[in-house]
Amino acid sequence: MRDSFGREIRYLRLSITDRCNLRCRYCMPDEGVPPTAHDDLLRYEELLRVAAAAVSLGIDRFKVTGGEPLVRRDCTDFIRALKALPGVKQVTLTTNGLLLPPLLDELCAAGLDGVNISLDTLDNAQYQRLTRRARTADEVLDAVRLCAARLPTKINAVLLPETADQMIPLAELTQTLSVDVRFIERMPLGAAQTDQMASADHALARLRVRWPQLEPITEPRGNGPARYFHAPALRGCIGMIDAVSHSFCDRCNRLRLTCTGLLKPCLCYDEGVELRPLLRGGADDETLRDAIRAAILQKPAAHCFQQRENITEHKSMNQIGG
Ligand code: SAM
Ligand code: SF4
Repeated sequence: MRDSFGREIRYLRLSITDRCNLRCRYCMPDEGVPPTAHDDLLRYEELLRVAAAAVSLGIDRFKVTGGEPLVRRDCTDFIRALKALPGVKQVTLTTNGLLLPPLLDELCAAGLDGVNISLDTLDNAQYQRLTRRARTADEVLDAVRLCAARLPTKINAVLLPETADQMIPLAELTQTLSVDVRFIERMPLGAAQTDQMASADHALARLRVRWPQLEPITEPRGNGPARYFHAPALRGCIGMIDAVSHSFCDRCNRLRLTCTGLLKPCLCYDEGVELRPLLRGGADDETLRDAIRAAILQKPAAHCFQQRENITEHKSMNQIGG
């Protein structure tokens, strides 16, 4: 289905939990976020019902996110059921990777099409400072290696002033591993209300010093807004997701469903359509479809990350799903 600006909406991010085994500084506030009561979370059957209704409107790609989606019990069964819905073309997962290795076999068997693993630094001490937990970047890197041997894998690194020296080592992972490495500008939401921003253009300039032959690739890659670059020495690509310094809203193809059932048309506004009352109030499929259509038609022309006073979204990223 097209929105009121003619953009075709094909992609839905499904957050299945706001809980997480990490506390990344740019994602969650220092004091943490009170977790959603179990009863307020959409059940897997409810998520599948939303997904089936979305498919009937032309949305056929889904990203399972959170919080940390792998902390929710039976996440693999949910992924299997989602992938098996008629009309679903692609199901991918975004994870911090820590719980991934023992689940990889099951996730592959469930039909998962790809994994994004978040890793902002290769330095173990810095990883602990950033995530406020006693886990290591080495553990995540082990998960990346295992995953890349089985599934299309992308590393997502948020660009932060304090990790500037990690950018080249992270990008170098794509010399030896078959992964894309993507750098994401930190968005000024929730815990990340800061004026310090490392820009993707600056990062790209540094990457071009390291790989002078880095060229933009023209063929479409992925579902999202990343601009991809390649150099002969690299097995995968390097991507830039520069939502803050460059708007790519004219190509926006997505909706987001929070774990409590708010269907969000845009990351930066606290607006959307509450699906949980419909799901629990006996709404029929057509009513559910109408609610999804309404969210698509509510999509604004653009986000407002550059006019921060207009941001009305005050939830943190773990509550939105990234
Ligand atoms: N826990 C999983 C993970 O970290 O991949 C999935 C949820 S997390 C909210 C999804 C993505 O949002 C991650 O890649 C994370 O780095 C990104 N993210 C969180 N806060 C962000 C912020 N303020 N700006 C940009 N990206 C952010
Ligand atoms: Fe958890 Fe992902 Fe947020 Fe880090 S970015 S705190 S791993 S939800």
